[in-house]
Amino acid sequence: MKKKLIAGNWKMNGSSASNEALVKALAAGMDGKDCLVAVCVPAPYLGQVQALVANTGMDLGAQDLSQHESGAYTGEVSAVMLKDFGVRYAIVGHSERRQYHGETDALVALKAQRALANGITPIVCVGETLAEREAGQTEEVVKRQLAAVIHTNGHCISEIVVAYEPVWAIGTGKTASPEQAQEVHAVLRAQLKAATPHADRVHILYGGSMNAANAAQLLAQTDIDGGLVGGASLKAPDFLSIVAAAR
Ligand code: PEP
Repeated sequence: MKKKLIAGNWKMNGSSASNEALVKALAAGMDGKDCLVAVCVPAPYLGQVQALVANTGMDLGAQDLSQHESGAYTGEVSAVMLKDFGVRYAIVGHSERRQYHGETDALVALKAQRALANGITPIVCVGETLAEREAGQTEEVVKRQLAAVIHTNGHCISEIVVAYEPVWAIGTGKTASPEQAQEVHAVLRAQLKAATPHADRVHILYGGSMNAANAAQLLAQTDIDGGLVGGASLKAPDFLSIVAAAR
């Protein structure tokens, strides 16, 4: 059985001092963990956190990357640059990027492709808004978002991580119930199975107000292979409780 993956998404939070305190506290609590752990940090801190996570058993992640290889793209960060800092994972298509930066399904698919081409595992986020859920469109939306990535990445699709993040649950304190989450994860697994014989290898993470209190029940679901954790990843005791729940 594959180990679960717990990835922290720090979003646009942190400072040199707070990063050091947080990673040191996490490292001190990693003994006996039985899952994969990553922290996805703001780009300016990749070098600092690369050094801090060395030999801790934690991996380094980024929160985005450019779809381009290199060149005149002011402000962008390339996969090659991320690789230079030992980055193992890159979140792509987070709902905040889709919402505030107009990222489309096609662009997200290209970003996933660029990551894979450079040996970085893309954590591809999909998820419906509250209006879409209420309109009964959840399945249609997540399948459309994942289909674009499958279409562009073909046989490499078993190398991605998927994160199901209902937009209405992100940073709101509202969590999908374990049953609601499992239902969508099963849909995503079936879609992956239709695309690759290795679909069972793919980690499908749940994200959306996962915390110390609800993690164990969510992680007990058949198709929930880990968590993408925002707010709770900034507090060492909370993140460590989620890591402890991932067995
Ligand atoms: C996220 O941003 O990926 C996320 C899941 O955030 P939160 O845990 O704060 O809802």
